[in-house]
Amino acid sequence: VAKEKRESCFVFYGEIKSRPMTRLLNLKHELPLAIQQQEIMLHYQPIIDVQTGRVVMMEALARWYHPDHGYISPLQFIPAVEENGMMGVLGEHVLQLACRQAKAWMDDGHAAVKISINLSKSQLAHEAIADLIEHTLAETGLSASMLNIEVTEEAFAQDLDQVVATLRRLRAQGIGIWLDDFGTGYSSLHLLDMLPIDGFKLDRDFARRISAESRSFAIVNHMTNLAAEQGWQMIGEGVEDEEAGLRLTEAGCHLQQGYHYAKPMSADQLKAWLAEQQGKAKEGDADETN
Ligand code: C2E
Ligand code: MG
Ligand code: MG
Ligand code: MG
Repeated sequence: VAKEKRESCFVFYGEIKSRPMTRLLNLKHELPLAIQQQEIMLHYQPIIDVQTGRVVMMEALARWYHPDHGYISPLQFIPAVEENGMMGVLGEHVLQLACRQAKAWMDDGHAAVKISINLSKSQLAHEAIADLIEHTLAETGLSASMLNIEVTEEAFAQDLDQVVATLRRLRAQGIGIWLDDFGTGYSSLHLLDMLPIDGFKLDRDFARRISAESRSFAIVNHMTNLAAEQGWQMIGEGVEDEEAGLRLTEAGCHLQQGYHYAKPMSADQLKAWLAEQQGKAKEGDADETN
């Protein structure tokens, strides 16, 4: 089937250094088409418990491979989709794909692997979000206890009460609630105090600094103590080398995610990767019994 040639109306996003000038398309028109033509998909990045070497979660990360513009990063298209009021459309698609995939892993025998989905500010502000999540779980047959949602501080900028109520409702059903990129914003500690959470993800800045900076180490160390005391889990994000992983572990943070362990992968790549890991685990078990 020949792909229809699209008329693109360009919107320019410039000047913001962290979001390099990118040309985004007429999203109102393009996004539904991109979803329909499967240009937007999910990659999955394993989160490892370094104490056991096992994968405990997968974070679903959106990817857009555009036929004319190539790969567009979520750092570029998520904010643009938000600005265009289209996050509902994208969010529903992501939720569907992720829950279906997680169910498939369950059925494949990876019963201990939860899926983590990122929810944006506007998704959380939407009153129907809890209904949508519950509906998607029912439809895909995934159990609530296998789903985590990750939220960042910016989601709490407006109506904190409403967002907290939504999170409570989801959490009451067994969905895990995680505060993402923790430690970068100004009100982080306040949010820890306010939110019904299961855990937080320490911003990758800490993993980047922990090998060289004794203060970073001390902060992470104190955070792990606080987390343990409060019954929160904690994930160190952005572990790029062995040294950072070891330092995080030393500081008490044993759930880790980063390129050092695995990059985000397509479902197919991941299947091969998981098989390889299982092979290694079996070898390990065999070694122990010898
Ligand atoms: P995030 O949720 O904090 O996701 C982690 C980001 O760090 C991902 O970037 C991941 O690929 C990257 N990463 C993982 N390990 C390493 C590492 O060792 N070093 C470095 N430097 N980076 C690492 P990605 O996939 O480009 O996503 C960027 C952000 O876009 C995400 O940050 C999240 O906020 C947002 N995003 C991605 N997918 C979705 C989605 O489906 N929905 C929503 N609402 N936001 C999404
Ligand atoms: Mg995340
Ligand atoms: Mg993060
Ligand atoms: Mg982030």
